[in-house]
Amino acid sequence: MEGSKNISIVIYLNRDLGKKIKIAYCREISLSVLKSICIEKFKIHSANKCILYDSRGEALSEDDMDYINPDEPLFFSLGEDFSPDIILALYEKIKTLGQGGFGTVKLYRHRIQKTFVAIKFIKTNKLLKPESISRAYKEIQLLRDLNHPNIVKLIDVFPISNQICFVMEYCQGGELKKYVRDKGGLNEDEVVSLSLQLCDAVRYCHNSKVIHRDLKPENIMFKDKARTQLVIVDFGIAGIFSIGNSGEKSGAGSLFYLAPEVINETNQSACPELDIWSLGCIIYFLLTGERPFNGKTRREVVDSIIKGKISKLSYFKPSWKLILMNTLQVVPSSRWSLLKLISVLYKVKENEPLEESKSHNVTECVAKSASLRSIRTPEPTIKLPNIARKRIITHPRK
Ligand code: ADP
Ligand code: MG
Repeated sequence: MEGSKNISIVIYLNRDLGKKIKIAYCREISLSVLKSICIEKFKIHSANKCILYDSRGEALSEDDMDYINPDEPLFFSLGEDFSPDIILALYEKIKTLGQGGFGTVKLYRHRIQKTFVAIKFIKTNKLLKPESISRAYKEIQLLRDLNHPNIVKLIDVFPISNQICFVMEYCQGGELKKYVRDKGGLNEDEVVSLSLQLCDAVRYCHNSKVIHRDLKPENIMFKDKARTQLVIVDFGIAGIFSIGNSGEKSGAGSLFYLAPEVINETNQSACPELDIWSLGCIIYFLLTGERPFNGKTRREVVDSIIKGKISKLSYFKPSWKLILMNTLQVVPSSRWSLLKLISVLYKVKENEPLEESKSHNVTECVAKSASLRSIRTPEPTIKLPNIARKRIITHPRK
C-alpha cells in the first residue's frame, strides 16, 4: 500500500452539497467503517439506511472498496436517491464558451481537482425526434472511443434534468475560424503545419471507421494559448463508415463545407471522401481567410459547389492549386486519398518538387508545361484582387 498513507477522499452530504468532509483513505477501510465515520463527522443522529454513492450515482458495496478512486468524491445519503444534478455541482461555472447549432458549451472548473473543462449541454427536451437523441448518444460513444492529440478528449458524460452534459478538455486557444479571419489568411508554413494535424486526426478517424461529416473551422479549436495544436471538436453528426455498406445517411452539415454529392443528394452516405472535400475547403480558408465557394444567394453557393467552381483558383501558387483542385473534385472517387494529401503536404513542407496530377472535372488546370515551383517563391510584385492573399499567389490568370 505504498503511497496510500496521505490519500484523502472528499465526501459530500448528498442532500446538502454545501457540507463535505475529508477522510484519510486507505484501501483496507471497509464500507461500514467509512459510513460510521460519515455519521460521526456529519453529526447525524439517526441513520437507519445510509448509502454511499460514487460520482456516477452507483451505490457502493463492500466489494467496491478496493476500487475507489480518491480523485472522485463520494456522496453520503441518508436513504434519499442520488440526483444526477449533483455531478454538475462539482463544477463551478466560469463563462459561456460557444453556441453551436446543437448545444451550448460552457467553461467550468472542477471544485476539487481545480482543472478547467468545457461542458457541452444538449437539451434532451428539445430533441424530441428520436434520431436527435440517438445522435447525441452516438457522439458520446464515438468520442469515448477516439484517442488522438488532435481530437477533443471526452472526460465524462452525465445526464442532468432534461440535458446531457459532455465534459471535455478545455481548448484554450479559441476557434480556428476567428483566428484565421482576424489574420486574413495564414502564412504557408502555418497552413502546412495545421493542415497536417487535421489530416492526421481525420486519418485516425477514418481508420477507426468514423467519418466526421461536419469538418469546418467553427468545429476546430486551438488546444493551447500559443495556438500551435488544433483539436477537432463536435462529432455530433459523425457517422460510422463500413466498407461495402452505404453507411449512415444524413443531409446535415454546413453548406459552405459540404461536398457536392451531399448537396445534390446523389450520395449522402458517410464516406471518407466527404471529409476530404471539407479538408480542401478548410485548407483554402487557412490560406485566404475566405471560403472556396461563394455566391450572393444560397442557390449561387450551391451552384458553385456542384460545379466545383473554386473561387479565384488561378491566383494560387501551383502547389496549392494542385492541392485544392484534387481535394475539391466534384466526383468523389476522383478526389485524392487522405494519404496522398498528407504526402503532398509533406512535400510542400520539405520544399520538394511536386509531381503534377490529372485534373478531372475542374476546367482550370495547372498548365502541364509549367514547372511546379516551390511554395517559397518570392512574393509577387503585381497587385492582386482583394481576396487572394499575396503569400499564396503566383500570378493572375491571363
Ligand atoms: P454544436 O454541436 O452545437 O455545433 P459544438 O460542439 O460545435 O456544438 O460547440 C459549439 C462551440 O463551443 C464551438 O464552436 C466552440 O466555439 C465552443 N467549444 C466547443 N467545444 C469546446 C472546447 N472543448 N473548448 C472550448 N470551446 C469549445
Ligand atoms: Mg459545431
